[in-house]
Amino acid sequence: MRGGPVIAVDGPAAAGKGTLARKLAEALELPYLDTGLLYRAVGRLALDAGQDPAQPAQKFAQALTPADMQRKDLRTPEVALAASKVAAQPAVRAALVETQRRFAAERGAVLDGRDIGTAIFPDADVKLFITASPATRALRRFLQSGGNTSAADAQAQLGQMEEALRARDEADASRDSAPMCVADDAYVIETDTLDAQAVLAEALRFARE
Ligand code: C5P
Repeated sequence: MRGGPVIAVDGPAAAGKGTLARKLAEALELPYLDTGLLYRAVGRLALDAGQDPAQPAQKFAQALTPADMQRKDLRTPEVALAASKVAAQPAVRAALVETQRRFAAERGAVLDGRDIGTAIFPDADVKLFITASPATRALRRFLQSGGNTSAADAQAQLGQMEEALRARDEADASRDSAPMCVADDAYVIETDTLDAQAVLAEALRFARE
């Protein structure tokens, strides 16, 4: 028995999952876990060890500590790519399953990731899949990063960001182990034309159905 509801928030990179999941957790008074941080921390440890993140990385996943997940250097494009490479390894995913399930055991939780509604909590109380076009997601990432540059540089940077997001989505959706996909019973929210408040309202409507 779980001590509260589990809400799964899945979707591709930079679709607004984190913002939504945090606001949902606040509104519903539930703990919140950004599961991408687990994979980012494992990728970071592999890079720190001078290892190619595509090589077996389960020893880093098995030894992961809360401090590893609180590091300030996990949000770089290099670490995102490393995270995606370690996340494709079944042994890495297996080492992180229990941590995620335990997190929700006491009071329930909102968790965001790629496989929460399909693999970690197939019995989640509410499943949301948050998505937006690659162009919208790249623009959001660009604006978050400061976006303070000349028009020509901005165009080039946006193009690079969009390409990196597409490549990571493609890798996350095509891996054999728990690929990113929409659960049959998930509500899909397209956020291209919605602001954060509107996405939250939509999600709360689904959560209360
Ligand atoms: O969400 P975020 O961009 O921080 O995730 C980084 C990477 O970690 C993703 O591209 C994906 O490969 C992996 N990931 C995953 N399963 C999750 C969360 C993240 O495979 N539940």
